[in-house]
Amino acid sequence: MDSAKNKAVTAIYPGSFDPVTNGHLDLIARGARIFDTLVVAVARNLDKDPLFAVKERIEMLEAVTFDWKNVEVDMFEGLLVDYARARGARVILRGIRAVSDYEYELQMAMMNRKVEPQIETVFMLPGEAYSYLSSRLVKELARFGGPVKGLVPALVEERLKAKFS
Ligand code: ADP
Repeated sequence: MDSAKNKAVTAIYPGSFDPVTNGHLDLIARGARIFDTLVVAVARNLDKDPLFAVKERIEMLEAVTFDWKNVEVDMFEGLLVDYARARGARVILRGIRAVSDYEYELQMAMMNRKVEPQIETVFMLPGEAYSYLSSRLVKELARFGGPVKGLVPALVEERLKAKFS
């Protein structure tokens, strides 16, 4: 029998979360219902040009996930699978919105499996209302004063307003 069976399962939900949207939260809610522990891990990705500093992204995530006792927020650098291994995680959780996400996610999942075959990537679909929602589009809307209500938590809405005011 697989010795890993019946053990508590930790899943890592990695991403930029620049900033966290209601689509991310939808996925966090789904993940938190299935996994014993869900670690939302903010990637310190040096080649992107973020709007919010990692510290700010973590603060917002911590505030909006506060009610989920099995959800934790962390940061990682370097290879995701190294981080997942260090955290004792057996699952990487990713969201797929549309077919356009699939190719990139497939490549990444296959590459991660090659590096660490013991860790499974699990994909979840958000609620339909969030299937078009991305941090990038939210930032574009907010930059030009567009309505982001309902797309991000109220706290994030305020932070976006402050950034662009
Ligand atoms: P990354 O830079 O790694 O794509 P993101 O913060 O954009 O980081 O996304 C993190 C994860 O959350 C990815 O798996 C992405 O597909 C997923 N995701 C982002 N927005 C949504 C959404 N609206 N619905 C479902 N999943 C989403």
